[in-house]
Amino acid sequence: MVLFTDLDGTLLDRDTYSCAAALPALELLRSMKIPIIFCSAKTRAEQEAHRQELGITDPFIVENGGAIFIPRDYFSFPFDYHRRKGDFMVIELGISYEKIRRSLCRIREEGQFHFKGFGDMSAEEVMAITGLDMEAAHRAREREYGETLEFGERADEIERALRAIRASGLNYTHGGRFYGVMGPNDKGSAVSLLLDLFHKKLGQLKSIGIGDSINDVPMLSAVDVPMLVQKAGGSWENINLDRLQKIQGIGPAGWARAVMQIAEA
Ligand SMILES: [Mg+2]
Repeated sequence: MVLFTDLDGTLLDRDTYSCAAALPALELLRSMKIPIIFCSAKTRAEQEAHRQELGITDPFIVENGGAIFIPRDYFSFPFDYHRRKGDFMVIELGISYEKIRRSLCRIREEGQFHFKGFGDMSAEEVMAITGLDMEAAHRAREREYGETLEFGERADEIERALRAIRASGLNYTHGGRFYGVMGPNDKGSAVSLLLDLFHKKLGQLKSIGIGDSINDVPMLSAVDVPMLVQKAGGSWENINLDRLQKIQGIGPAGWARAVMQIAEA
């Protein structure tokens, strides 16, 4: 088995970013030697901090599938990658943050929009809208493959701005709180690519995906067992997908229940 998991609102509580409710289930997965693959809109810096805290050493997928980071020596066979960064081989599926920023600034000017990206905000502003602490806010601003947008009071502009973003050749997705803007990547293509490598390593395997939002749909579509946890408030995101298992429990509590279900199966 290989488990792909979203972070915000899934393994981590949407508001407190705590994963305390999921820790026993995480321990169980580790004892079963099941790889835990983060697949999140979060940056490499953010995910590395969580991996370190939780003692997870498996590959991870950053910024909505912008890139896959694979620890050196994780796979014993050669595979194609774009570059090395520290102890990781990096497979890049997205385009650079600088390019995305340039396009977004032009779109904002031309459409006279008021949206703000993390690149327009100080770390203090990112803290204020996300509830992250200062260090985590700095890590959230270390973007490489996508921008996070906030529309603030200007909800009336969202649809028109998203149309302009799409028309410029960029993609967007919604993570439950913010919009993510990126190149041609999504979580699903990154999951499929990584699954090919796991098939080569393990042979037959069962892939599981756990998420909470629209930006998880490509990931959930790419796995054998898609699971959806409840959002804050107790409802499920409106996602229609064959085989989708709706799990009782908000965020990390639902995550724990999903893992128990997998372990008992
Ligand atoms: Mg999420």
